[in-house]
Amino acid sequence: MLSYLHAFHAGNFADVQKHAALTLALSMMQAKASAIACFDTHAGSAVYDLGGERARKTGEADGGVQRLWQRREHLRSPDWQPVLDLLGHLNAGDDRLATYPGSPQWFRQFLRADDALTAFELHPSESEQLANWAGRKVRVLREDGLKGLLGQLPPKQPRLLVLIDPSYEIKSDYSAVAETLQRAWQKCRHGVYLIWYPVLTSGLEKQLKEALRAGPVRKILMSEIHLNHPPERGMTGSGMLIVNPPWGFDDRLAGMLDEVSGAEGLGIRHELDWLVPE
Ligand code: SAM
Repeated sequence: MLSYLHAFHAGNFADVQKHAALTLALSMMQAKASAIACFDTHAGSAVYDLGGERARKTGEADGGVQRLWQRREHLRSPDWQPVLDLLGHLNAGDDRLATYPGSPQWFRQFLRADDALTAFELHPSESEQLANWAGRKVRVLREDGLKGLLGQLPPKQPRLLVLIDPSYEIKSDYSAVAETLQRAWQKCRHGVYLIWYPVLTSGLEKQLKEALRAGPVRKILMSEIHLNHPPERGMTGSGMLIVNPPWGFDDRLAGMLDEVSGAEGLGIRHELDWLVPE
């Protein structure tokens, strides 16, 4: 049963971190001309209505992308520019954002002539909406994203970028993600893999990190943001694991997230380290 709907959370602090890392990876990989096969294993929708009932019920975007947007004049890192460009394009420069793009749209913004995106989404209405939105270069598959990814590797394009972003509704998702990453890496060792996970008071996400620390995959960068005023229970932060980040990615991601840290930013602190070194 799929009960999670990202519309309640779109544009929150975790999305800001995730989509900052995704756009940076895409920009840096595209410094080279060779084609990239992109995979979005848990795609969600392409567009979210921040004024809609679901978004308003949680108000999560207020502490995330709305704050980023309010601070846009103060951001110095040029790596924020592609993020601001897409937000501005979708919102016609309004002071308060009405629309937020989901990961398939962040990917599509970057696709060049020979790049391609495969988006997996199991939820019936989300996948239908996505299929209606997708154009020529985006393939939408209503399949399990973890199994589906393994079935598509290695890709025909010379390079690979994968975003793995489950909702972790089921506790076994943490071990399933670790196992899928290890199997995907065996099939395509040079691929760049981005994995999102929640930082929880229960510490469940440690299963994912421990499995990867003990496994064969090397060169895993870990970016974590922690809320300065976390709730007593539940999600207190958000993490990204980046396998095979392009050279210099760590400094540039830190530059972006440090700029939005602290009380004046998103009320977060950012930590960056290697979960598994080279
Ligand atoms: N990646 C999106 C973004 O950044 O905008 C958010 C995705 S949301 C966290 C997770 C999505 O995965 C939900 O839309 C859910 O319906 C979908 N989903 C859940 N289980 C899945 C599975 N086994 N395979 C593919 N999609 C799944």
